[in-house]
Amino acid sequence: MTTRVYLLDMGTLMLDMSFVTWNHGQGIEYRFPVFAVYVDTGDKKVLLDTGFEKDWVERNLPFEKPEQSEEQTIVAQLASIGVRPEEIDIVVNSHLHFDHCSGNRYFPGAQFIMSKTELRHSYVPDPWERLGYDKNLVDIPGAQFTLLPPLHGYEYEVVPGVSLIETPGHSEGHYSFVVRPTGEAPMIFPVDVAYNAHNLGSKVLMGLHSDPRELLESMVKIENLAQKIGGRIFFSHDPESYKGYKKAPEFYGE
Ligand SMILES: [Zn+2]
Repeated sequence: MTTRVYLLDMGTLMLDMSFVTWNHGQGIEYRFPVFAVYVDTGDKKVLLDTGFEKDWVERNLPFEKPEQSEEQTIVAQLASIGVRPEEIDIVVNSHLHFDHCSGNRYFPGAQFIMSKTELRHSYVPDPWERLGYDKNLVDIPGAQFTLLPPLHGYEYEVVPGVSLIETPGHSEGHYSFVVRPTGEAPMIFPVDVAYNAHNLGSKVLMGLHSDPRELLESMVKIENLAQKIGGRIFFSHDPESYKGYKKAPEFYGE
């Protein structure tokens, strides 16, 4: 069996640069990509995050000026590679900010894996993080949930070839993903530990975080892991790096 990894392009959002580089860049607009990751291991079909929905953002956070074509919805992206929503076995959420979980509702038959801490924050956010969460996005009646307790440093295996590590700081129950496509270097998705290469390379924290010290530790953890396993890092919201990534229907693996 072979593991293939597809990046599903979900359009773009906008933030003031000071959200991207803490206390710097006020008044500069930063338009950034959002993507989900689909992994087919041959045995299981796994979705890592489910992106945003344009109408939700327009209603709730219009200043993020969402751009998302009909082809950039999660269902259309999967359809472009011949996958129907009901075929998805597992959905894992890195964290529950709206741009990582808004498509969950299309997969009511999947097993959802997420952090218990993160789910609690989604229901009762702290005042400064309230804009990022909406419990209605993750309340899927009848769905099967696996709520993980704190992992304390170990790598949790979702299925062979797909694992997650706990990387708090951006949000309290935040996970990063490690995916091993057949015949290629491991892929590391820090997700929102570092929006872009500059955040990680220069240890410039983003303006939104639950704990700056934890976020810095998570950055070092990601760099260390990449070095240890020879992994390639794929940044979550980096317009420059994104240009060089393969997007579905292209894939990583054999
Ligand atoms: Zn986030």
